[in-house]
Amino acid sequence: MFELPEFLTLARQVNQVLAGKTVQSGSLGNSPHKFVWYNRTPEEFAALTQGKFVGTAYTRGKWLFIPLEPGYLLTFGECGGRILHHPAGTPLPEKYHLLIHFTDGDALSAMTQMWGAMELYEKGAELQRQYIKGMRTTPADPEFTPEYFSALVQETAGGKKRSVKGLLTQDALIPGLGNAITQDILFLARLHPRHPVDALDGVEIGRLYTAIVDTIREAARLGGRNDETDLFNQPGSYQRLMDHNAVSRPCPSCGGKVEKIQYLGGACYFCPSCQPLPVN
Ligand SMILES: [Zn+2]
Repeated sequence: MFELPEFLTLARQVNQVLAGKTVQSGSLGNSPHKFVWYNRTPEEFAALTQGKFVGTAYTRGKWLFIPLEPGYLLTFGECGGRILHHPAGTPLPEKYHLLIHFTDGDALSAMTQMWGAMELYEKGAELQRQYIKGMRTTPADPEFTPEYFSALVQETAGGKKRSVKGLLTQDALIPGLGNAITQDILFLARLHPRHPVDALDGVEIGRLYTAIVDTIREAARLGGRNDETDLFNQPGSYQRLMDHNAVSRPCPSCGGKVEKIQYLGGACYFCPSCQPLPVN
């Protein structure tokens, strides 16, 4: 599934190759899939997209927004799979969940893996959609400052008992983070996934903040993770430190053995020496 670095990469690439193009025709899926969330019928989608031009794309959390001017916004959210640019004259995929032809012969296709939203809104109406409405500050926003993060940790520690993995992956407290990038963030912050949020001291909060911002920035700079593909159907160049291959490698920091646990809806990979649970 795409996380914030992959969505940031897609937005950047849409702006490189699709900005300003005019839609010749837009169609929704020839490959039925009950976990693709549409908010338009194929007829509505075709009628509303025709003749619109692509504005400046942007990302928030796990959502990619592509303005179709004037007045509309195409969104891809909470998804993985393939969102691809097809230069004029190159073959198109046989199956797709969304396909847009542009007047210059280029095309954009999307095919989700698992699930995901492909929705078209009148600009502004997307802000009422579940998961977009009231979205918190994301690590790519300038408002994601050490002070903001520290206040978020205090707020989180005051509620139900939460671990740092929960802080990073649950309830969209930090939109855009998912189980994949979280493993590297916790490794760099030297925190065990189960480390209770209310046991974090000031130094650990600072380390976690830096690990989040640095990891997102680096992964986005490298075009996302190497187990996802970008708009040009190329894998990203960001190689995770702590993924399923890590259990057969020594810890990159201390050379010790990396462990795997199932915790909060996904596998966690961590070094028990570098990321010990606090004793109390
Ligand atoms: Zn280690």
